[in-house]
Amino acid sequence: MNKFEQLGLNESLLLAIKDLGFENPSEVQEKAIPVLLEQNTDLVALAQTGTGKTAAFGFPLIQKIDAENKNTQALILSPTRELCLQITNEIKLYSKYIKGLHTVAVYGGASITEQAREVKRGAQIIVATPGRMQDMINRGLVNIKNIDFCILDEADEMLNMGFYEDICSILSDTPDEKNTWLFSATMPAEVARIAKQFMSNPEEITVGHKNSGSATVSHEYYVVNARDRYEALKRLADANPDIFSVVFCRTKRDTQAVAEKLIEDGYNAAALHGDLSQAQRDGVMKSFRGRQIQMLVATDVAARGIDVDNVTHVVNYQLPDEIETYNHRSGRTGRAGKLGTSIVIVTKSELRKIHSIERIIQQKFEEKTIPSGIEICEIQLLHLANKIHDTEVDHEIDNYLPAIYEVFQDLSKEELIKRMVSVEFNRFLNYYKKKRDIASEKSERSSEPREIRAGDPVRYFINIGARDDFDWMQLKDFIKETLDLGRDDVFKVDVKEGFSFFNTDGEHTEKVMSILNGYDMNGRRINVEISKNDGGGRRDHNGRNSGFGRREGGFRGERSGSAPRREGGRDGGFRSDRGSAPRREGGRDAGFRGERSSSSSRREGASRRIESAGDSSRPRRPRRS
Ligand code: ADP
Ligand code: MG
Repeated sequence: MNKFEQLGLNESLLLAIKDLGFENPSEVQEKAIPVLLEQNTDLVALAQTGTGKTAAFGFPLIQKIDAENKNTQALILSPTRELCLQITNEIKLYSKYIKGLHTVAVYGGASITEQAREVKRGAQIIVATPGRMQDMINRGLVNIKNIDFCILDEADEMLNMGFYEDICSILSDTPDEKNTWLFSATMPAEVARIAKQFMSNPEEITVGHKNSGSATVSHEYYVVNARDRYEALKRLADANPDIFSVVFCRTKRDTQAVAEKLIEDGYNAAALHGDLSQAQRDGVMKSFRGRQIQMLVATDVAARGIDVDNVTHVVNYQLPDEIETYNHRSGRTGRAGKLGTSIVIVTKSELRKIHSIERIIQQKFEEKTIPSGIEICEIQLLHLANKIHDTEVDHEIDNYLPAIYEVFQDLSKEELIKRMVSVEFNRFLNYYKKKRDIASEKSERSSEPREIRAGDPVRYFINIGARDDFDWMQLKDFIKETLDLGRDDVFKVDVKEGFSFFNTDGEHTEKVMSILNGYDMNGRRINVEISKNDGGGRRDHNGRNSGFGRREGGFRGERSGSAPRREGGRDGGFRSDRGSAPRREGGRDAGFRGERSSSSSRREGASRRIESAGDSSRPRRPRRS
């Protein structure tokens, strides 16, 4: 009797499991499946990403569904469209030997009438994002009044995305007698609140501290100057020619900007974030799964839970605001027993975050240095040689060979090899010959913007004031709430007519700049700048402010000259110097976070709508992470 059989699963599931190639249940499956099969109970299960939660609820659910009854019996809520589709797919695979069992995905951005029609045809299981589900309920297109099971998958992320009210409202539309199974990686207060409000005596399962990836993911960090972030990313990609990676940025704007730069520099990259149309996102995911894309630059929400095998590297281009999120990111690699690497590009001022993450993941990071140009050239050269060596020869080429032999007849084998590999190699060599090595310049230089440290007050200018109906208390509350800061974290708020000033501790500066700057306040775009005047803060820092206000922040200065084209990039060859003209910066103090100061991302002016992946039409409160 195999392990799955011992858990009590029936023949049709066992057959499907065999097809899937699962040999042994994962820990969360081992714990959850028997409980869910044997009891009619509520359940709270805490387990990291990649631990096999879908099957942990999917198997028992399928076994308990009455496939002969066409009514909707189960609702699975999940945070994003991608996850919704992924779960639907999995459930379909699990239930492929069960006649008459239908699972329908319900998510924003696709035709609601078509989804309603599918539901109407008979869907025992509906997998939905909360926003779209709420729409369907409001329009009377679904009936979940008689369901037996409701599953909240990635509950923490759903709440994080601002779906609390939708979830409450949806759950209120379901019968009290149903069973609710809540799956989550973490248990923040909001999740506990949902559990308390909507569940009775839930069984509780916690799967160790262990991320299934943790044994197979190694963690590395690279310290760079803020303005070298992009160059570091490029070098890491160049030093890993077979990289197949998810690159995480903090905001949609950064995600778009980094992806655009990579594409411009000839990498096989694409962006995945909530501002793309559904068709674009589908296209991106398809290309990524098909490996036409080597670097998928994504926001946390868009990439949450995405299950693509064989991702070699997760790159934290910027660290997430919430440390917990790091787990979700690194869980994109090291899946299904494969080895993976999670890389963090950090500035010195962010180093303490690495230590906090170490405590949470209970694993050590290895500090590494960005490879030098020479090292990269060497890696690329060997890679190319191996590639030539292993290339499969199509004998079609035989017809052309005589003419080609003739061209090469005066060259020795050694000469020929040298020239062949030089074709590709020259590009890298020429590029890196001109570059300084970023790793060896860790020390601060005079051109470096003032380092902002925890413990130092930072004063900001913000373009809203009394004219926008703020007094100092209201502005303080608005900033606190938007940034999810504590009671005393915003101080020295000084409201003028059309603008204001306020202070925070330097530890919050990145958050202020990444969330508040560009924030869309009812159609008004908020602009925040670090003020040269520290407002007579807790200490005097005038001497150190001089670094601010330099115009050419960011890595753009680095991008002049010819970036090496990647093999398989668009058109080999040398690039023109189009990056070399210094562009004007959009804001006065753009020097601080180099990677955000690109004029294109400022110009783009994408309003900082709240990210809500599959349900972008609905307003949400700002995400915290
Ligand atoms: P989670 O929801 O916990 O993040 P998933 O349910 O998405 O995890 O599963 C992660 C991956 O592991 C998927 O590719 C899934 O097919 C695979 N998987 C799940 N259970 C098993 C198992 N028992 N044996 C092998 N692979 C499994
Ligand atoms: Mg999952």
